[in-house]
Amino acid sequence: MYDINTVRKDFPILGREVYKRPLVYLDNAATTQKPRCVVEAIANEYYSVNANVHRGVHFLSQQATDLHEAARETVRRFINARDVAEVVFTRGTTESLNLVASSYGEAFLHEGDEVIVTVMEHHSDIVPWQLLRERKGIVLKVVPMTDEGVLDLDAYEQLFTPRTRLVCVAHVSNVLGTVNPVKRMAEIAHAHGAHILVDGAQSVPHFKVDVQDIGCDFMVFSGHKVYGPTGIGVLYGREDLLDRMPPYQGGGEMIARVTFEHTTYERLPFKFEAGTPDYVGSHALAVALDYVSALGMDHIHAHERALTQYAMEQMQAIEGMHLFGTAPGKDAVVAFNVGNIHPLDLGTLLDRLGIAIRTGHHCAQPLMQRCGVEGMARASFALYNTREEVDALVQGIDRVRKMF
Ligand code: PLP
Repeated sequence: MYDINTVRKDFPILGREVYKRPLVYLDNAATTQKPRCVVEAIANEYYSVNANVHRGVHFLSQQATDLHEAARETVRRFINARDVAEVVFTRGTTESLNLVASSYGEAFLHEGDEVIVTVMEHHSDIVPWQLLRERKGIVLKVVPMTDEGVLDLDAYEQLFTPRTRLVCVAHVSNVLGTVNPVKRMAEIAHAHGAHILVDGAQSVPHFKVDVQDIGCDFMVFSGHKVYGPTGIGVLYGREDLLDRMPPYQGGGEMIARVTFEHTTYERLPFKFEAGTPDYVGSHALAVALDYVSALGMDHIHAHERALTQYAMEQMQAIEGMHLFGTAPGKDAVVAFNVGNIHPLDLGTLLDRLGIAIRTGHHCAQPLMQRCGVEGMARASFALYNTREEVDALVQGIDRVRKMF
């Protein structure tokens, strides 16, 4: 059973105070807190196993390599990839997206080819494509959304032409919480002969993401948003596509043989992992994934959905409240503004009450423009948040509101 009080004990930081008040941490879409097992895995590996991985003949190197490659298998299982060759370790979602833009862009995109993104993408799924537009003259197209924050699938389908090569879509919006219909979008993309990349930064932490069930060609996520450490992330890519893509960076680890005349590359996934990998981070990420798997992704999802619904209901009742993103089934994120209060003021005053939320454009300025605002306040939930914390947020907002 999912016992929130037991779960919270796994996260020592939740017990601390800020400004002499109990911490209410509601900035989980930015990064999640770490359970003790993850922090201990990092310390233990440095204390007792640490050695550079791959090619080492000595005991420690082999043990560190085993942990690193076992972590790859844990990720494979977690997202249901077919083979570990399809799991590339990166620094995070942003690097994974830049890798695809650079390498897929090199292999498959030519002047006039089209990439479709959505109006609710994070900057990390917009700017790499704009950089490619500057280099190669590709065309960027944008899927619009309704005022509730639901992607317009008819408009999406109409964007396709024979030049459309790739669709890039956030599985869950980091601002609106909308869960996009990526499986349907993948079917439509494939029917038009295009590939699809799913940005799973905000879905992988919250519910079971099965890349084969979705039918996506690429999926990316960050370790630190799913209770793992910073500096490690994942690119899942279909093996036949990764095989046809050139390396992203050159260096050690990614080569088979080097001469001054010619270099051949390692097999997948190592071709995309130049240099010493974050092997401690990969192991700690695997520990985090095992941790959430043991709790049960379905339990986590149910808990967070109930909390999101409760928060939406409670917040709606606050005078002057404007909620952004009211799509059915939305997930774990509530973005809002209250009256004419600047979100920065709101965030700063809530912080004094011990409540950590995020304010600003949330790395989604085109979405802010679509919503007609400069910025928003955002509360985002994780597996350890409670109804009492939502109550504290609601009371805090109401208290701030009365000051203006
Ligand atoms: N994509 C989405 C939907 C996000 O929410 C984020 C982070 O907030 C990113 C991409 C970028 O993730 P990272 O900064 O971990 O690379």
